[in-house]
Amino acid sequence: MRIVIVGGVAAGMSAAARARRLDETAEIIVLERGEHVSFANCGLPYYVGGEIAQSDDLLLHTPESLRAALDLDVRVGHEVIGLDAGKRTVTVRSAAGEERLGYDALVLAPGAVALRPSVAGLDSPRVRTLRTVADAVSLRETVDAGARRAVVLGAGFIGVEAAEALRLRGLEVEMVEFAPHALPPLEAELAALVTAELGRLGIVVHAGVAAEAIEHLEDRDAVRLSDGRRIDAELIVLSVGVRPATAVFEAAGVACERGAMIVDEHGRTNLPGVYAAGDAVVSIDRVTGLRRPVALAGPANRAGRQVADHILRPDAARPIPAPVGTAIVRVGELAVAMTGANRASLRQAGIDFDTLHLHPAQHAGYFPGATPMALVVHIRRGDGLLLGAQGVGREGVDKRIDVLATAIRAGLTAPELVDLDLAYSPVYGSAKDPVNLVGMVGSNVIDGTLTLWYAEQWAALRDDCLVLDVRSRGEYEEGHLPGALLIPHTELRERIDEVVEAAAGRPVRALCGSGVRSHIANRVLLQAGLDSASLSGGMLTLRAVLGDGVLVAGG
Ligand code: FAD
Repeated sequence: MRIVIVGGVAAGMSAAARARRLDETAEIIVLERGEHVSFANCGLPYYVGGEIAQSDDLLLHTPESLRAALDLDVRVGHEVIGLDAGKRTVTVRSAAGEERLGYDALVLAPGAVALRPSVAGLDSPRVRTLRTVADAVSLRETVDAGARRAVVLGAGFIGVEAAEALRLRGLEVEMVEFAPHALPPLEAELAALVTAELGRLGIVVHAGVAAEAIEHLEDRDAVRLSDGRRIDAELIVLSVGVRPATAVFEAAGVACERGAMIVDEHGRTNLPGVYAAGDAVVSIDRVTGLRRPVALAGPANRAGRQVADHILRPDAARPIPAPVGTAIVRVGELAVAMTGANRASLRQAGIDFDTLHLHPAQHAGYFPGATPMALVVHIRRGDGLLLGAQGVGREGVDKRIDVLATAIRAGLTAPELVDLDLAYSPVYGSAKDPVNLVGMVGSNVIDGTLTLWYAEQWAALRDDCLVLDVRSRGEYEEGHLPGALLIPHTELRERIDEVVEAAAGRPVRALCGSGVRSHIANRVLLQAGLDSASLSGGMLTLRAVLGDGVLVAGG
């Protein structure tokens, strides 16, 4: 059997390696148009920033090492420019010319290419992308040659990594993002923490604006923004997103949706013997059912492997799982991670949900080095099914988001998170791990023990509710919502009459630092017969959502 694979990195090379491990007799040919296969695209920003010293460290294999280890026929500099599914051949262009190559099974893993928006002047040689080893080498050379100012267009994951790498090398870096904040899939209240950290690193973020034109000047370019600003730069990194590299295959009859190839649960396209995997295919989101390509290395690697399983062991092959989109990125001293659905996609899918905000420490508070993380978790209204989670913090975020990703995959609900036995010693966690706490807060919400109110609601409810601040006097005096009544939670039981009087029949909306003390207060108030709710995430979340400008200081 001859298996031809187009694209020799994540999905393609996983398919090739697995195919060989399953079948010593198959002829396996990998066609890669670039000069490298099996390179670490995820490591490229760290080479630019110098944390990865040598570009060779990005090359995990060579055609020679793959021939030796796996008997693969890997052909770099070979671009597939045509497909005839009827005749089961691909047309390949290389330095030697064009040839047709027959196959029994074809795996399309062409990945994606950088999206090029219609911005005048984008053809400037100072505009670069970061997708290949050559891109990374060229960027680093430009920095070594003395570039001082960079503009990064697009503040998604790759843009943020590129910006941080360039800043690490001492450049002045400004980012331009069309969405309202950097890392657009992140919830706004967490994005505020990222924006602050980027600011601390000295990276300026222009959010909610577009690059309108790039003017070519002698020694630099100038990026003109939709808000009228002009930013000079010797280097411009284009990272506004990707599009599947599928034109050839779509033209040959592979069914596509907005350019991404449509596959079934085994990676089969509509054409016989033609499979596809990776960034270039449509995935169906496990939580929302929304259809979109997922440009992440893990799902691409695993799908490539499972495609090989289906080619060689069709009866035993497991279906390729729908991805939940688990991702993580470092921003300065913060880890920023997410899994499952965010608010926007849940709304798009029409799923009712409740949002939980927590600020637990990564390990026991009494053990030195405890530091808080901010978690935002969405659960399905009614049954508490875990739908999505995001976290930002210095330590421990990766572990919690991975556990929550596992829980989403397993279809766990908030009460079931309470039951998880997670590793604990004061050095690593807490007897009630942040994941267990998510479960407890979520359980309280779904069984009615806890009613939440949200910072976004403050403007609408401030005149119709009594805002009750249950923090200490010192915390209150540092900054509180105007009109909020201060009664520390430890005094509440004795002073409940004051609340009743001040509320004058209005609902009470309690708040504290992070939502723990206001939950206690809320229980006291509810059991005293008041209409009460507790601010989700407390002042920590409120400040991130509304900013410090809404607060007043003093007694
Ligand atoms: P790719 O790995 O992109 O491979 C596709 C290959 O196909 C390319 O080498 C291309 O040259 C080749 N090709 C395309 N068309 C043809 C053709 N017609 N003929 C021959 N060859 C062709 N993901 C994460 O999960 N975590 C990260 O931290 C992360 N960081 C990233 C950082 C950067 C800078 C980049 C660029 C990506 C990052 N990703 C990350 C995304 C991840 O690398 C991709 O999701 C993954 O590589 C997709 O795998 P793939 O096999 O579909 O495509």
